[in-house]
Amino acid sequence: MRIIVAGAGHGGLCAAIHLARAGYPVTVLEKNTRENAGLPQVDAFDADAMAFAGLPVPEDFPRGSNQITFVPLEKDVAPLTLPRNPVESIIVDRKRLLGYLFDLAQEAGAELRFGVEIKRALMLGNRVAGVETSEGNVYADLVIDACGVHSPVRESLPTHLHVNREIGPYDVLHAYRGYFALDASKPMPATPYNIYIRDNGTVGFCWAVTGDSDVDVLIARFPEMTFEDVLKTLIALKDDNPQMEIDNLKEGSFHDIPVSQPLAVPVADGYAAVGDSAFMTYPVKGSGIAYSLMAGRLLADTVMADRDGFFTAETLWPYANRFFRQIGHSACLLALLKNLLPFLTAQEVNDMIKSGLVTTEELENLMDNKLDAVLNVKGFAALKDKIKQFSGSPIKNKLLELLVWSGKLTLTEAQMPLEYNRAEVARWAEKYNEFFASIAKKEETPAEG
Ligand SMILES: Cc1cc2nc3c(=O)[nH]c(=O)nc-3n(C[C@H](O)[C@H](O)[C@H](O)COP(=O)(O)OP(=O)(O)OC[C@H]3O[C@@H](n4cnc5c(N)ncnc54)[C@H](O)[C@@H]3O)c2cc1C
Repeated sequence: MRIIVAGAGHGGLCAAIHLARAGYPVTVLEKNTRENAGLPQVDAFDADAMAFAGLPVPEDFPRGSNQITFVPLEKDVAPLTLPRNPVESIIVDRKRLLGYLFDLAQEAGAELRFGVEIKRALMLGNRVAGVETSEGNVYADLVIDACGVHSPVRESLPTHLHVNREIGPYDVLHAYRGYFALDASKPMPATPYNIYIRDNGTVGFCWAVTGDSDVDVLIARFPEMTFEDVLKTLIALKDDNPQMEIDNLKEGSFHDIPVSQPLAVPVADGYAAVGDSAFMTYPVKGSGIAYSLMAGRLLADTVMADRDGFFTAETLWPYANRFFRQIGHSACLLALLKNLLPFLTAQEVNDMIKSGLVTTEELENLMDNKLDAVLNVKGFAALKDKIKQFSGSPIKNKLLELLVWSGKLTLTEAQMPLEYNRAEVARWAEKYNEFFASIAKKEETPAEG
């Protein structure tokens, strides 16, 4: 028996650690070298996810919680600062986190092979039988796809397996992340962690976070991004951030962030997708480390429960089900709200903050995925009251649509089969995908503005 983890994504490594510890022969194939693997940045994720994933947190991993401020378009509108999140995050260098997971996987007995690029899935009839790589074909009884959002494994699967799906223009944010030197002699912004809402939802957002020795900049856009776009945004940011030396870049790179609902069907015979390859992120902001790690644990448990080692869509289905019911459904609710973003202009957001219609509490719920507080009976009543205040504005229709969407989503969720049945799973996938396609903003190419 052989299990391949395709790509050293977080969920794949988490599954590899548990499976190798249980005695399964696991090989991780990663295209980068060990030193180059992992994004060159510091990110935060929910500390509880490590406990869920069954992984101890090293004592020297920094913990804390960021305090975010939203800065609206007009200078005379007061920014909104969210309260500091009482739930602790791990705020860690991504290469350090990945290095730690590599060590655990190796100690558990998994084989890690670096510098191996995966090209596509190898099919034997309808079963995934391995992967084609830069070093030849590698066959396996199970391929765990942890190759990230543009996984060549997922993308090469036949459509009738219902796993792969077309990525729409608002499903992925193109992001530039740069760390610029800090000039401590210049005036500092009033708050350190600022998200700027200067562009319309069809464009995206950016942040500037001032640390002890640098300024961390994220520019996230739905349209394709050029260096010219980055430069334009940096120059605009410099106005509010004189402490940022834009001609002294320490580290900078482009990456894509998935911001859509998770896959309806992340499994097939011989195959399971985990993490970004299955769109397991918070759809408003694309944070996916926590979900990936948690899903990795759920997947490992499901694989171990398949005592005969069949690894079929049927025996892997409990993983899909547990992820969706415990985590994915609330991600879907966020995906609904995210769907409003492309309809909103920076001016509308500015006006909503100015009039007090958007409060820190609501933004906090949104950022922390506490949507039950918004999309419940009390929340609906409050939302309806707010909507009334928008009469005459196009936002009214958009918000009313949100109420209808969440009702429809509840109906769709009930159709996810508890037990695997090929026809029922196909029906579920069609309904789920049709629903999200029906509410997606329709332009093929997002407009600037
Ligand atoms: C700019 C930015 C900021 C982010 N901020 C946060 C944050 O603050 N908090 C948070 O939780 N998340 C954040 N995320 C999201 C987070 O990076 C992902 O959700 C998270 O890494 C989970 O993805 P993953 O582990 O499944 O896949 P990935 O991290 O994408 O890992 C995939 C792995 O597969 C490898 N691979 C890809 N293709 C191949 C191939 N063909 N052959 C072999 N190997 C391959 C890659 O090299 C990589 O090692 C951010 C993402 C970006 C881009």
